Amino acid sequence: MKAWKLDSVGNINFYENVPEPALAPDQVLVKVKACGICGSDVPRVYKNGAHKMPIIIGHEFSGVVEKTGDPVDKELIGKRMGIFPLIPCKKCPACLSKKYEMCSNYSYLGSRTDGGFAEYAAVPKWNLIELPDNVSFEQAAMLEPMAVAVHAMRQLELDSDDSVLVCGAGTIGQLLIMFLLDRGIKKVYALGNKEFQKKTLLDIGLPEEHYFDIKSGDAKAWVKEKTSGLGADAYFECVGRNETAEQGFGMVKAGGQLCLVGNPAGDMTLIQGDYWKILRKQLRIRGTWNSSYLGDDPEAEKDDWHYVLKSLAAGNIHPEKLITHELQLSELEKGLLVMRDKKEDYIKIMVLP
Ligand SMILES: [Zn+2]
Ligand SMILES: [Zn+2]
Repeated sequence: MKAWKLDSVGNINFYENVPEPALAPDQVLVKVKACGICGSDVPRVYKNGAHKMPIIIGHEFSGVVEKTGDPVDKELIGKRMGIFPLIPCKKCPACLSKKYEMCSNYSYLGSRTDGGFAEYAAVPKWNLIELPDNVSFEQAAMLEPMAVAVHAMRQLELDSDDSVLVCGAGTIGQLLIMFLLDRGIKKVYALGNKEFQKKTLLDIGLPEEHYFDIKSGDAKAWVKEKTSGLGADAYFECVGRNETAEQGFGMVKAGGQLCLVGNPAGDMTLIQGDYWKILRKQLRIRGTWNSSYLGDDPEAEKDDWHYVLKSLAAGNIHPEKLITHELQLSELEKGLLVMRDKKEDYIKIMVLP
């Protein structure tokens, strides 16, 4: 089969003749139909490498079951599937309490074991989520970032008349805004700094007067004006920088909530004044990581993946609006370079094998 392999840091190669993956009894062979490039793939390829190399990267993918490791599962053949990329150990304390996203000994499709930038991938049966007919493969390849956004949203206790600030309009920030609006929260406000990101935000339903370009003036004064001088009820930090985290402590009202979503670009430090704000305003600060997925558990309907799939199937959510590039499998490197060099505008780059 055709596949991209990260052979070593900075050395990613397209091969025409990689052997199809062999299947364990609990795995199926998925013919990949769409695979998104994640922001984390860029440092994985060009800076830090993966946990094991060579490896086929790509963890945001969907496809059709073509073969099963165990003949007992043959009714899965031909089914359209989304894929939860984390493979939990199912033995550690987090796994035993079904918080698989916090597993301390996990494997991961596309970073610890072969993933989706290939014609085929071996996927454990447990990691498959069946797609309703009206959900496209491209939408399903965005289940993972959408579930990450929903997981962040559900970390905070939000009311429909709360004022909610989202700082950062990359993929996760945009998807988070989509889900907040879908939840009926009208007072969603976005802080961004790129004109093309603003365009998609308006396209997904954010009112223009709810967007502020941080370079254009005093964001703090703007937030004050929007919240009748009180500050916001909640703040989502989707950038991962010191300035944008610390700005949140000032922008929320007393008793407000903050959710830290963005992966930190470097050390995060707190000056005394911000520390005081946390104490005096009795702020509630939550972290968020990954997304909840319960596999074949009877409670699975409650996980983030089912939440997302339900909204998608109902036609309430349109993540495909964030797709700025569609590439063939052989063009993956072009997409990685767009994201690394930032010479072109992009939000989600999708590879369609
Ligand atoms: Zn990702
Ligand atoms: Zn575990």
